[in-house]
Amino acid sequence: MPDALPPAPTVIDGRVSIVRLHGEACFDCGAVHEPLRAAGHVVVRGSTQVWQIVTCGCRS
Ligand SMILES: [Zn+2]
Repeated sequence: MPDALPPAPTVIDGRVSIVRLHGEACFDCGAVHEPLRAAGHVVVRGSTQVWQIVTCGCRS
């Protein structure tokens, strides 16, 4: 089936740097000079905004 639902975003508590939420830095370590790749979606607890996050691969 081509229209499977995407995985639900991970709910996080709101202590994350905005640049990490914006996908401009590694979500796990904050690296900005590493090759970054998509790491799924998160939603801050209490919000409905879904963010697409990235990782440098430090936590696989
Ligand atoms: Zn990292």
